[in-house]
Amino acid sequence: MKIHEYQAKDILKDYGVAVPAGVAADNVEQAVEAAKKMKENGTSLFVVKAQIHAGGRGKGRTKNSDAKGVILCKSIDEVRDAAESLLGDTLVTIQTGEEGQKVKKIYVTDGVDIEQEFYLGILLDRAKSKNVIMVSTEGGVEIEKVAEETPEKIIKEWIEPGMGLQHNQARHLAFALGLEGDAFKKAVKFIMALYNCYVETDASLVEINPLVLTPGGDVYALDAKMTFDDNALFRHKDIQELRDESEENPVELEASKHGLNYIKLDGNVGCMVNGAGLAMATMDIIKLSGGEPANFLDVGGSANVETVKNGFQIILEDQNVKAILINIFGGIVRCDRVANGIIEAVKDPEIAEKVENVPIIVRLQGTNAKEAKEIIDNSDLNVISAVLLKEAAEQVSKVLAA
Ligand code: GDP
Ligand code: MG
Repeated sequence: MKIHEYQAKDILKDYGVAVPAGVAADNVEQAVEAAKKMKENGTSLFVVKAQIHAGGRGKGRTKNSDAKGVILCKSIDEVRDAAESLLGDTLVTIQTGEEGQKVKKIYVTDGVDIEQEFYLGILLDRAKSKNVIMVSTEGGVEIEKVAEETPEKIIKEWIEPGMGLQHNQARHLAFALGLEGDAFKKAVKFIMALYNCYVETDASLVEINPLVLTPGGDVYALDAKMTFDDNALFRHKDIQELRDESEENPVELEASKHGLNYIKLDGNVGCMVNGAGLAMATMDIIKLSGGEPANFLDVGGSANVETVKNGFQIILEDQNVKAILINIFGGIVRCDRVANGIIEAVKDPEIAEKVENVPIIVRLQGTNAKEAKEIIDNSDLNVISAVLLKEAAEQVSKVLAA
């Protein structure tokens, strides 16, 4: 689960990570009021930032007012103008795609003078089964680009799970950023606090880009991106409440409400599979036979009429889908039951209309697979059965070519 920058910064602050002061606002008046209060406390530079679940806001532009997603303001009037141009408009960044994301909230922060911009990220390195902290002097730019072009400029420390982050590792990272004296000590404290926050909140990613050094030797998180492990959210009710469903893909959200694990992809072969591993293998074999999967869909252990119907509805939301491959392994659930479920679902008028021109290829293996194939073959529906996965994928290629 992702959260907004202002929410991430609130969490970071609770863990003693240095962030500039800021106030989130839903309307222009709130933003102006916040700026007035900040001015009373001595602020002379404000930053108005669009709150959307996507990065690259500084280089992004709104569709109507052509405003940047991060606007530096020197006066209350400029804050008002910035708020007016951002709120309600749609921000397009390198990460949102062309359709952009509507700005419903902005964050007014205390502007910070920047001496130097750094990158700092923490995530799980799956290959090493350890958390990794990465820093780079190339801050404020896309880290993917740095990784590709100048990987030597990314310094990493892997954390031993049983030991936790060691002080000397944090020192090594701060040293790699070229920091000295007070700023060095502040950066070490920052890294220790950030790692503690990452672990305690069951985050799967914390990215501070940029982490900045001020001319006065202070270190701040100017931007903050946090993603949490969905499987651990049950023990963080407070974080769960930060979920902003309007930022999520509507079809993926609908699927998750039905207990289906759906991820939209760019191809034209819809897949309905039980089990994540089998779903991955199915996508691989579609690709090997020259097709492109339109989605990942794991219907879970119980492939009954209801789940199959919901699966069809979700897959068919995608106009690109030209064929559907159903690949179910009947271990606990019997294949003949699944076959009947598929036929019943396809007969449902709402689905029948949508699948009229979308051939369905079904591969059922496991308990009562033979009976299941007979059920499919004897139905007079636009459903093709296959025994082997390879056969099924070939059938897909064939119907796509036809
Ligand atoms: P992103 O573009 O979505 O990653 O948004 P960021 O929060 O990283 O802001 C983009 C850029 O705006 C930063 O890299 C900074 O260069 C600039 N910026 C953001 N906040 C401040 C600030 O307080 N002071 C100054 N001088 N620049 C800022
Ligand atoms: Mg940033």
